[in-house]
Amino acid sequence: MSAAEPVHLVLRSTRVVTPRGTRAASVAVAGRRIAAVLPHGAPPPPGAAVEDLGDDVLLPGLVDTHVHVNDPGRTEWEGFRTATRAAAAGGITTLVDMPLNSLPPTTTVANLRVKQEVARPAAHVDVGFWGGALPGNVADLRPLHDAGVLGFKSFLSPSGVEEFPHLGPGDLAAVAAEIAGFGGLLIVHAEDPARLDAAPPPGGPRYADFLASRPRAAENDAVTGLISVARRLGARVHILHLSSCDALPAIAAAKAEGVAVTVETCPHFLTLTAEEVPDGATEFKCCPPIREAANQDALWAGLADGTLDCVVSDHSPCTTALKVPDFGAAWGGISSLQLGLPAVWTAARERGHTLADVARWMSFAPAALAGLHHKGAIEAGRDADFAVLAPDETFTVDPAALHHRNRVTAYAGKTLYGVVRSTWLRGRRIAGPGAVAEPTGLLLERQPHA
Ligand SMILES: [Zn+2]
Repeated sequence: MSAAEPVHLVLRSTRVVTPRGTRAASVAVAGRRIAAVLPHGAPPPPGAAVEDLGDDVLLPGLVDTHVHVNDPGRTEWEGFRTATRAAAAGGITTLVDMPLNSLPPTTTVANLRVKQEVARPAAHVDVGFWGGALPGNVADLRPLHDAGVLGFKSFLSPSGVEEFPHLGPGDLAAVAAEIAGFGGLLIVHAEDPARLDAAPPPGGPRYADFLASRPRAAENDAVTGLISVARRLGARVHILHLSSCDALPAIAAAKAEGVAVTVETCPHFLTLTAEEVPDGATEFKCCPPIREAANQDALWAGLADGTLDCVVSDHSPCTTALKVPDFGAAWGGISSLQLGLPAVWTAARERGHTLADVARWMSFAPAALAGLHHKGAIEAGRDADFAVLAPDETFTVDPAALHHRNRVTAYAGKTLYGVVRSTWLRGRRIAGPGAVAEPTGLLLERQPHA
């Protein structure tokens, strides 16, 4: 922000969620940035538009660091235009695209450029990219880092698509050492392939059979192994979509010891349970799987005590045709980009958490994870990205109201608290009420650490 840039907008609410607490305030915006957080009754600078939000809550725009946009290549599953529209409608102002399921995958600089060209004109929200680390592309990692990817995703077990093979133990050490060498971040799908192979194979319509095919032990062993890699090589490692609560003690111990490990979980693990999945309902299939209610309680405890850092969607859609009613054959992935905030808020409020907690899990922490230090909080100097939420209003999820390309959702028919009234990106309203504006999202590249 240049010193001369005038305040053009003031957003006023009795409930503004800031890193220093939730309070009545007026947020002054100059250009793309927040200029100041002022007292609620502060007179607006001359010429500034004032948006009085009443008692609706002003949150920092959400940062969703786990989204499979699948574009280009599998655009019948999702695409940048539809995914980012859904994000905008759901209060998300930044998403980070996963490197697989698109063709090409984001595993070379040339492939990154292809993806950026597709995303640039279509992005309703700001978009960053994770690179992919495969058995054969160690030499591509530093160039990708220099080209602006925010970190590197790997799998320890088959990813589900041929073009994105998983790392063996030797590959993992080589990849982690290379990434540690340039101070990068390794993000990992943590399920141990030997444990998966030893489990009964999935198949048929029964959810219990699918759950048995993805045991907690697969996650627990993978997490333990990753912690030792992070410790031994001094690598920064982030564990994606943790579902098994049994892994929490090892993670807490590693953090206490100073190992650079962070962990995310997802709205579906926090809000849906194995007990409620109907037979054949493969819109609930994802890997690792949704587990039992008692496991979910423990994940909430892990969030509350800081063992878990982030809550991000793992939005991983496919066509309706691929969601056949057989848990072995169906594509694994849950679509929730537009619904993550109300889904998490509905469960969080019942458990006595606040919107400040939700903002920390779904905005501040993911922004920090991805090194996006100009995102993730309402404070002077950060981007003026906001979600305006009516937290006490409810709505019933109607798949027809979703902007996802395929309106398959595990949340259909659920009544949720929290209506997103509007979403603001760098000081401009991009969604709501009832409409999404033309795309004005920017492509984000890795920032030098602030
Ligand atoms: Zn994923």
